[in-house]
Amino acid sequence: MLGLMQEWPLLCHKLIDNAERQHGGREIVSRSIEGPIVRTTYADIHRRARQVAQRLEQDGFGLGDRIATLAWNTARHIEAWYGIMGIGAIYHTLNPRLFPEQIAWIMSNAGDKGIFVDLTFVPLLEKIAGSVPSLRKVIVLTDQAHMPRTTLPGAVAYEEWLAEADGAFAWRTFDENTAAGMCYTSGTTGDPKGVLYSHRSNVLHAMIAAMPDAMGISARDVVLPVVPMFHANAWGLAQSTPMVGAKLVMPGCKMDGASIYELLDSEKVTFSAAVPTVWMMLLQYLEETGNMLPNLRKVVIGGAACPRAVISKYQDKYGVEVVHAWGMTEMSPLGTLCTMKPQYETLEGEARLDAQCKQGYAPFGVEMKVTDDDDKALPWDGHTFGRLKVRGPAVARAYYGGAGAEQFDAEGWFDTGDVAHIDAGGYMQITDRAKDVIKSGGEWISTIDLENLAVGHPDVAEAAAIGVQHSKWGERPLLVVVRKPGKEPSRDEILDFMRGKVAKWWMPDDVAFVAEIPHTATGKIQKTTLRQQFRDYRLPTD
Ligand code: ADP
Repeated sequence: MLGLMQEWPLLCHKLIDNAERQHGGREIVSRSIEGPIVRTTYADIHRRARQVAQRLEQDGFGLGDRIATLAWNTARHIEAWYGIMGIGAIYHTLNPRLFPEQIAWIMSNAGDKGIFVDLTFVPLLEKIAGSVPSLRKVIVLTDQAHMPRTTLPGAVAYEEWLAEADGAFAWRTFDENTAAGMCYTSGTTGDPKGVLYSHRSNVLHAMIAAMPDAMGISARDVVLPVVPMFHANAWGLAQSTPMVGAKLVMPGCKMDGASIYELLDSEKVTFSAAVPTVWMMLLQYLEETGNMLPNLRKVVIGGAACPRAVISKYQDKYGVEVVHAWGMTEMSPLGTLCTMKPQYETLEGEARLDAQCKQGYAPFGVEMKVTDDDDKALPWDGHTFGRLKVRGPAVARAYYGGAGAEQFDAEGWFDTGDVAHIDAGGYMQITDRAKDVIKSGGEWISTIDLENLAVGHPDVAEAAAIGVQHSKWGERPLLVVVRKPGKEPSRDEILDFMRGKVAKWWMPDDVAFVAEIPHTATGKIQKTTLRQQFRDYRLPTD
């Protein structure tokens, strides 16, 4: 027997409808690409998104068309997303930090027919547009007055293009499982793979993200998503913020410490989210200027392991609660968040920090397990680590075009490629990417633990642990370190600092100092490049 409740498909435009109806006057503040701060509201976004939808249909776009965005976080980018989704087309975020050839490959693989592009990226698009045969419409996110000279055929200025639609438009309706958005993984090994979100998965993910023990945002919050919309859906914030009606502050293209601080301060931001490197940069700025963060209540830090020192600085010196989180593009992206269950809530000092360095537990809607190489589930004991597998309504069940099929099994589990353990309380801790783990004498050493420990040294700015060939042990850890400006810690000082805090056989065999550690397009340490760089390194122990 079926239930007798109403059919109400979970469609993304219902989020923006609700925002307009319930929170229409709530502001969206953007640092525009042209420069000035621009203020709009959910009512404006709702109206303009419908214009986008109507105007796209006038241009012949419709259900299932992939329409790319190559843009920073601004109100216009949000309007474009909702307008695209509102006709059943698919927003496809492109990461501008990838190589131009990679972006061209991704666009061609996705078959993008149109693109919304920020002024900043017009030169980039000019280089690659010719190699994307499917592309037939370029909309530059600016007005005619700021329109650059461009070789892009038929490029139009967004504002004038938009003005050709009057906004008398009703959202199209379709099945909630219709594709809504697309984002490619960064492809550190092999070609990037397309993840295809549905309306249903986006709406459910937005609800999961907003829950009190997940991100915990409300209508009273002022949310600054520093994490870009092109990095795994801005961690769901472009959907969960309108869902709850929070004020939204969009940083545009300025992500340096001073610019981020200016918005945090002038807009009285209460909640923000970004990768650890952003928070480290802001810390440096705060330390240099002596500024404080009186309004900021909570930050979510994820995308890479957050160093202990960063968590404790924000909490103890600046009074900002840090929520460590883990996720991936394939998970929409939230997987776990380290908020406190009652049994952890009473922890204090170092014990609390120990817990916060974990990536946290899975909210409703995410199931997880760790398995050995034979796919046997491992105990939740807080130390037995294995492959982390997940499933849920906002987790991919396949990649676009059928790539990477080996990562999905018959029971619906997706192999994340991460190595982790889970404790009895359900708290998961990532120890490595499977491909980055160091195998010494057949045993695994966690590179993340070594890195976290090393950056706890007051003179270390950044650290990366990699496996280097060793004739007896197969591989041994080498610690690659960037020193803080003006500081000269020695190899032995760093090793002495680490000694006793990890198992003896985990201790790095050597320390190499470098001026800079390479990062990927999503802010992670580029281990493949580092391993290549130190391929012929001779350890003193060998
Ligand atoms: P990409 O792989 O495209 O760079 P993702 O953001 O999807 O982008 O990357 C997901 C991966 O990032 C995870 O599988 C995991 O290895 C890593 N990651 C994310 N959050 C954390 C975290 N808090 N701690 C450690 N690793 C993390």
